[in-house]
This record gives sequence, structure tokens and C-alpha cells, in this order.
Amino acid sequence: MAPAAAVARSSSVKGAWRPTKIMNMEDLSRDDDFLSHLLVEKLGTGEVPLIVHKMDSSRKLPKADPYDLLQIVRRMISTAKEKSPTLAIRGAVDELLRLNSVKYYLTTLNYDQKQVNAFATHASRYFELYLPGGSIEIAHTSRYSHRTGKPELCILATRPLHPGMVITELKGSMADLTEEEDKELKRTDGRHADGVAIRRDFSVIHSKQMKKNHLFLGPARFVNHDCDHNVELFREGRYITFRVIKMIGVGEEVTAHYGDGYFGENNCHCLCATCEKNGRGGYGPQDLGDDPSESSSGSVQGAGSDVEESEAEEDTNDVNVNERSTRRGVQLRS
Ligand SMILES: [Zn+2]
Repeated sequence: MAPAAAVARSSSVKGAWRPTKIMNMEDLSRDDDFLSHLLVEKLGTGEVPLIVHKMDSSRKLPKADPYDLLQIVRRMISTAKEKSPTLAIRGAVDELLRLNSVKYYLTTLNYDQKQVNAFATHASRYFELYLPGGSIEIAHTSRYSHRTGKPELCILATRPLHPGMVITELKGSMADLTEEEDKELKRTDGRHADGVAIRRDFSVIHSKQMKKNHLFLGPARFVNHDCDHNVELFREGRYITFRVIKMIGVGEEVTAHYGDGYFGENNCHCLCATCEKNGRGGYGPQDLGDDPSESSSGSVQGAGSDVEESEAEEDTNDVNVNERSTRRGVQLRS
């Protein structure tokens, strides 16, 4: 053990990190589990804890003191006000990298500088959520609780959002998936004990422009689906954010469109507010006779969506229906 630990220590972060575009699936999944734990779950207040679905819920995460994390965020906010948001984020990530739990994480995994860069870059996405000029916050929704058994996360506007605005503080990191990783995710993604998918954030997206699937993790995945959505996915190089397409008032939920067949054919199992209002989707009469397990798996918002990217001219007919039905969870029970 001792020599390995010594090697690990020598290869761990020495200070400077650089923002990177390069992320791989395995590291991003692991980093996102840890970072969402530190920078969402640990910072959640109120009676209902903020719980993030993990890529691997069996993974043990190093213990961190919520007070330390809160102090980092507080210092980041004052630096952002006094100096600049960029400096503030940089400083917050630097401080995070010095926390014992984070040092332990990076050291145990024997991360090299490139991996530290990716970890730090992904951490910056979470810190951006808390910048004082922000326009959104993470909150709870009980809309899906009767299906998932617990409150889910959602994104609410904290100031009026006008069409055309890009919600820059709500980002997700992308990692390429190899064919094997893609298959592996399909096999294991969101499997519940009874074989019903329970993930409801969209963590795999299909880019028709790049003709492949990408893993997509970070705060941006907390945006839920609505058939009458108010933001669209907006790709900026290697990260993803959203552009507002309809006026969103303070306290209203920010919603995207996961695809036309994401919750069953024509989204017949969709549980969004619009479907509820119109008596459609999972609230429509046609849903009543369905197999309840299928209805459940189809209606919870599973991983994997053919999201229409605003950056590219997309042919919406050019979607892989089989892919989506697998990802959605309807065909996961094998
Ligand atoms: Zn709907």
C-alpha cells in the first residue's frame, strides 16, 4: 500500500489547473457523483434534503463537512461581487481542491493533471449555480413522487427570464461514449430492483450533428421535461446550456423537451404539468388500461434523450426510436 500511496500523492494536484474540454465517461460519472454530493446535496437546506440520482449509487464517497463547503461558496459570492465571477469561480475551485476529502478522492484515484483539470472544470459548473448574478436555483418538485417515491429536483427561475436569454450558469459537461460504454449504460442505467428505470434526469443525449451519444452530466441535467417547454438545449463547444424560448416568471420551473417519444409513443406516459392540465400523456384516459409497470418506467424521466440541439439544423424525423425506448426504460426489463 505504501508505495502506491506515495505514487498517488506525487501525482495529485499541485495547484494550478486548467479548464479542459476533454472528459471521459468513467471519470465524468465518478466526478459528477462526488461533486453533486458536495455541491448540491451538502449545501441543501430546509426539511427536504436535495438528493441527486447517482450514476453509481453504490460508490462510497469521502466525507466532507458541509460547513467548509458553505464557507467556500460564501467567499466565492463576495469575491464575485468585489472582483469578478471568473476569479470567484477559480478561487472556489482552488479551495475545493485543497479540502481533505477532495485531496483524498483525487489521490486515491491516482488522478493525473488532465483528470484533475476535468474534475476542476466540472466543479466550476456546480459553483456557477451559486453566483450572485444567477437567475435560477435548484429546488424540489413532488410532481413525480408518486412514481419515484421521493421528491425530485427541478430548476426554478429566480428572476424573469426572457426569450433569447442563455442561462449561462446552468451548464452540463459532455463526454464521448464509446460503443461499449453506450451499451453498458443502456444495460445498467437506472435499473431499479424490479427492473423499472427510475432515473428521471437526462444524462445521455444523442447528437445528430455528431451522430453519436454523449454522456451529459452536471447541474443542467436537473432541468425537467415539459411538453410545452420554455427552454431549448444550447450547445457551446463541449458544454451544454439552455436558451430561453418562452417568458419564464420568477418561481416558475425551467423545462426542456426531451424528445417526442421519450415517455412512450407520443409521450403517452408523460407526467408533465402541461399534460396534466390538458388531460393528456400519463393523465389521459388512454393511459389507464396500460401495464402499470410500463407506465411507471415510461413516465419517470429516464436517462437518454434525443434532444434537439439549437446549434445544429436538425431533422426531427431522423431519430432512433429503438434507442429512445430502450433508454426510456420501457424495454429495460429483460
Ligand atoms: Zn407532457
